[in-house]
Amino acid sequence: MSIEQKVQLVEDLFKDLEKESIQFEKSSGLSCVAGCGKCCTHPDIEASPLEFFPWAFHLFLQGEAENTLKLLAETKSATCFIYQPLAFIDKGKCGAYKYRGLICRLFGFSANTDKYGKLRLATCKIIKEGQAKKYETINESINQGLKVPIFTEYYMRLSQIDFRLGNRILPVNQALKLALEEVLRYYEYRRSTDVEIEVV
Ligand code: SF4
Repeated sequence: MSIEQKVQLVEDLFKDLEKESIQFEKSSGLSCVAGCGKCCTHPDIEASPLEFFPWAFHLFLQGEAENTLKLLAETKSATCFIYQPLAFIDKGKCGAYKYRGLICRLFGFSANTDKYGKLRLATCKIIKEGQAKKYETINESINQGLKVPIFTEYYMRLSQIDFRLGNRILPVNQALKLALEEVLRYYEYRRSTDVEIEVV
């Protein structure tokens, strides 16, 4: 399968998730603190390279992939490379929101199964503590049938697009790096074999 096809399939998956997330947000009434961005600064964010293919492909089309790969290789920080802190305040935002990964789209508004087999909302401390009552009510509701995106289902669907790159979970900056390397290697090979690049 070509990179373009994989990007398309990942974007289709994101669209399905977006529809489900909007529905869940409406029915649960859950919301992030405006302009928070704290979850992006967590040093332990993990992701697969495949979920960042749309980001890497976009940079490739902009002619920015190689330069970004260099900058990424130089970064010593464990914070997501894409995160943009705002000056003078303890806040920030995603620098490529449209191209953020699956983990970024799922976190906060999806559920996992806990060790007792119950669904639990996978969200941050700020929501758990700041909206504690709502958080508990939502956990009860999702176990009584309120529809919520399920983490494992979306990751399973992702790995069906490309098992090697969708199933490999790495620290976020390594996932970004691998996504860029894969896209660059693919087109390098195509160039070297003189095949025309079709851009979708
Ligand atoms: S890609 Fe964007 S939303 Fe995802 S962790 Fe990085 S900064 Fe946050």
